[in-house]
Amino acid sequence: MPRVNTVLGPVAAEELGVVAIHEHIGYGMPGSELDSRWWKTPEERYAETVPKLRAFHEHGGGTFVDATGICNGRDVDYYRSLSAKTGVHIVACTGFVGGDTALPFFASASVEYLTEQFVHEITVGISGTGARAGVIKVGVSRGGRMTDLDKKIYRAAAGAAVRTGAPVLTHLAIDAEPAVDIFRAEGLPLDRVLFGHADDGVNHDKTRHEWIIEQGGRIGFDTFGYETELPDPPFWARPRKDRLEHFMALVDAGHLDRLLASADANCSPLGWPGVEGHTVNYIFEVLIPDLRAAGLDDAAIERLLVTNPAAFLTLQP
Ligand SMILES: [Zn+2]
Repeated sequence: MPRVNTVLGPVAAEELGVVAIHEHIGYGMPGSELDSRWWKTPEERYAETVPKLRAFHEHGGGTFVDATGICNGRDVDYYRSLSAKTGVHIVACTGFVGGDTALPFFASASVEYLTEQFVHEITVGISGTGARAGVIKVGVSRGGRMTDLDKKIYRAAAGAAVRTGAPVLTHLAIDAEPAVDIFRAEGLPLDRVLFGHADDGVNHDKTRHEWIIEQGGRIGFDTFGYETELPDPPFWARPRKDRLEHFMALVDAGHLDRLLASADANCSPLGWPGVEGHTVNYIFEVLIPDLRAAGLDDAAIERLLVTNPAAFLTLQP
């Protein structure tokens, strides 16, 4: 049976419902958990997070993919509890947001070691909980070019994806040529790769959307809601209308099957204040109405938020 790994166990792909494909329960830079100015009690974290996931569930949200890599605050025991409390399926990832967030232990590991780590987390589990990762995270370090460490992690991710059938989700879609070369060399079909953050305000004009689609890759418009209209917009914000028109241009070019959408919001940020006024529920409260107003019908919205993510997340051993 086609299945997806969630933190509470495998789930049939058709049970995922509406999927938020790139989100965060709590994201922080490595070491932020050691900064006592930002300490939150478990109760405070629950109080910030549970209402957002409950609202997501009430809106009709089914599945929340946590794209928080190893070293960035990933906490699977906590996710299991949140999923049980709220009824939202949570998919955890293995892998790293980028080479520049891999702590020295992992940064100095071999490709083989990292591959085994990812395979273990997908097939056996994360930190003794038995909860298996459902997706592999990789990314481009700050600077706009893939570093040697980024490439090592991409190679390990590609190898683990081939062995387990798990999909790969990237942080940033810039400098995609070396990434495509690595995936091809390792024998990973490119429809198993979601090239993420293809829409953000800093990188969208440096991202080769059409080229990635021609290679067979999937494109993530997964920073919806980080817009210049926010009260205190982050540096990667973009005008709402500009992003929507860009997205619709790809739809109008016939690429709906290749597209995925999400909000990349933090339920409870770690070591930073987060971005005020932005949550995963942007998908229901703003994005879906905007897509309807732009001309997408219900079938197209279902393809974007239900069918495409289910196909992407289904393990293909
Ligand atoms: Zn993210």
